[in-house]
Amino acid sequence: MPTLRLANLIDGRLQPPLHDAWLDVHEPATGAVFAHCPDSSAADVDAAVAAASRAAADWANTPIEERAHLLHRLADLIEARLEEFAALESRDSGKPVSLARKLDIPRAVSNLRYFAAAIMGWSSESHAMEPGTLGASAINYTLRQPLGVVGCISPWNLPLYLFTWKIAPALAAGNTVVAKPSEVTPCTAALLGELSIAAGFPPGVLNIVQGRGPTVGQAIVEHPAVQAISFTGSTITGAQIASAAAPQFKKVSLEMGGKNPAIVFADANLDDANLDTIVRSGFANQGEICLCGSRLLVQKSIYETFRERYIERVQALRVGDPNDSESNLGALVSRAHFDKVSACIEQARVEGGHVLCGGHAITLPGRCADGWFMAPTVIEGLPSSAQTNQQEIFGPVVSLIPFEDEAEALAIANDSRYGLAASLWTQDLSRAHRLAGQLDFGIVWINCWLLRDLRTPFGGAKQSGVGREGGSEALHFFTEPKNICIRY
Ligand code: NAD
Repeated sequence: MPTLRLANLIDGRLQPPLHDAWLDVHEPATGAVFAHCPDSSAADVDAAVAAASRAAADWANTPIEERAHLLHRLADLIEARLEEFAALESRDSGKPVSLARKLDIPRAVSNLRYFAAAIMGWSSESHAMEPGTLGASAINYTLRQPLGVVGCISPWNLPLYLFTWKIAPALAAGNTVVAKPSEVTPCTAALLGELSIAAGFPPGVLNIVQGRGPTVGQAIVEHPAVQAISFTGSTITGAQIASAAAPQFKKVSLEMGGKNPAIVFADANLDDANLDTIVRSGFANQGEICLCGSRLLVQKSIYETFRERYIERVQALRVGDPNDSESNLGALVSRAHFDKVSACIEQARVEGGHVLCGGHAITLPGRCADGWFMAPTVIEGLPSSAQTNQQEIFGPVVSLIPFEDEAEALAIANDSRYGLAASLWTQDLSRAHRLAGQLDFGIVWINCWLLRDLRTPFGGAKQSGVGREGGSEALHFFTEPKNICIRY
């Protein structure tokens, strides 16, 4: 198959990078280069921001019906090529194509449709003032206006899913966008860029600049004409973005790392379906989901029987060619990430952890012989303070931690600098509510995991996030509220 050559989308045209520099894009399942992605520079970002600035006023004044219609058009075009998108996402990221087909691409379509519908139904507040001591009556209303040009920066783990999660509300709210997907997984965003032209978005409304974080990402963050940055990625990059944006007092929304607990009480309903969900919460997408429960806290009274059933299921997971519909796990996204996850497993051993299953790379026969595959790994015997239980590994690695009672479960769960998502397995309703209120996390799932309603606030506490995405939170982020007070 010929090597793909991706382009930037600037001012409604597909363009090569101005300096003609390119990055290799690898297929994680084979290790081979299959695409070249623009290694764009600040000059490309300047051109994109200039185009977005020219388009901003017209787009802000475009009727919401038209903005919503274009988002639906784009969703239609993606849906019509769902198989192609799923295959490309799988090839680019290493995830099983079955997952991309079932989760990533349908969710990207839903993101576009959701915000198309949300903007149609959006309204703002009004506050009536009764005559007070000054004897004046007044009515206040809130005008929420688009910000202008905004920057959207997304990671590699759910490439199109998270890219659309940002650009959809930004565009729906009337902003023009300069977006940067991860250089590790640039392909589906590039294809979306092509389709946005076919959908009929006016030139400059959506611009996509491909390239590396410290060059393209940094240039978007620092550009004085970019009013706000919506970022999803690691906490360390989030900190760099926050410090670069702060001197210009830009709005930032930061969705960052996690070290999420899944807490299983003795009274949980651990039927096959729930146990499968608990296993999935650790290993879906090779554990490369920010919401994965990598710390599995289990009540001591059921610890041994639970461990036996759990390990049996984890060992039954099939690591295989992402193209094979029987594969539960595909390849890790890159050689660098594979090395990082391997080093974390080694560190767990050095810390005194006991590897119950996995703990090694997997070499597959045939076309995937050089791919970056890792066996699903379960470790036990490490205290909450161990590095393994504190640092985000972001791979197929789960650490089992026993606890005595509710108080200890809560203390261990909250013993983290992160606060993205927790899941709780119990049939005691009072306990579920009590703990949900005390867990320091942005999301608490009770007897479920990754059950997402796009209207809910999405994001993390502590070092997992600043701000929230989803529903009206996203539309609030991408608009500036103005209070208008009319005396009568
Ligand atoms: P990353 O921080 O390395 O990169 C994310 C994006 O930021 C990429 O597009 C990258 O090119 C860009 N970037 C890098 N340096 C930059 C800089 N100095 N300025 C501007 N942009 C820069 O993250 P990653 O490795 O792609 O993704 C994995 C991380 O993302 C994990 O930590 C995971 O938890 C997190 N994540 C969080 C959520 C969430 O919703 N909280 C969702 C998915 C992933």
